[in-house]
Amino acid sequence: MNILKAGYEILTPISNGGIDELKHIERIGRVCYKSEDKITDDGESAKRFVKMLINNHHEAMIEHSTLSVLFTCDRGISHELVRHRIASFAQESTRYVNYAKNKFGNEIAVIDLIDGINLDTKMKNFDGDLIGEIYTEWLHAMEDAEKHYMNMIELGATPQIARSVLPNSTKTNITITANYREWRTFFKLRTAQDAHPQMREVATPLCKELQQRIPIIFDDIELPNA
Ligand SMILES: Cc1cc2nc3c(=O)[nH]c(=O)nc-3n(C[C@H](O)[C@H](O)[C@H](O)COP(=O)(O)OP(=O)(O)OC[C@H]3O[C@@H](n4cnc5c(N)ncnc54)[C@H](O)[C@@H]3O)c2cc1C
Repeated sequence: MNILKAGYEILTPISNGGIDELKHIERIGRVCYKSEDKITDDGESAKRFVKMLINNHHEAMIEHSTLSVLFTCDRGISHELVRHRIASFAQESTRYVNYAKNKFGNEIAVIDLIDGINLDTKMKNFDGDLIGEIYTEWLHAMEDAEKHYMNMIELGATPQIARSVLPNSTKTNITITANYREWRTFFKLRTAQDAHPQMREVATPLCKELQQRIPIIFDDIELPNA
């Protein structure tokens, strides 16, 4: 069994300093105000304009954008990701992928629960021995699930039937494409303290990176413990 860390990869190229992305929104948004004459080459007018849009809740203009992110997470978290309706998805299939094959190392892959435990607002204060015991229980459950999956495949079950015994912790890859407005909704909900710890594990660093790489768009999203 392969135990992996959760993570993400931004698939959409982002220009140096994120200025091209802001200029694109500015070009479109200024149609509303007929203020195209105020556009400057250095991107400063774009920064001011997009800030004004967000301050005035004129977020429809920032829908003229796209961002694709490939997540590595467990299937519990991917189930939460796909609840975001204004987004498009592509996810690793447990119907077509057969983890008993050499290509997948004849093993299942799971996302390490320890990082989720450490971000859980209650459990992070537990004594180390107790966390060790809980983690060991999880580990045994993962090993059992893998054993039964492999046995079912060995007996002739198709992957789409054998997947029934795969746990929520099973690693998945899922790509989400959405516009900036939807990503803003996503970050507000999914980086908050009450979001699932394993969701915060991927959403918080992603938001933080985007705040650094694209000015203005995500600046007002406050990240607890970032
Ligand atoms: C802490 C937390 C706990 C949760 N617990 C549960 C739970 O126990 N059970 C459960 O089922 N779900 C739960 N969810 C998921 C939640 O119900 C939403 O499905 C998910 O957060 C997506 O949010 P959204 O619908 O606002 O956003 P999106 O689907 O991403 O949509 C973005 C925005 O578009 C607008 N929008 C989208 N569709 C419509 C529409 N049909 N009509 C009007 N406006 C629309 C809304 O403004 C919405 O905020 C939880 C989410 C969080 C963050």
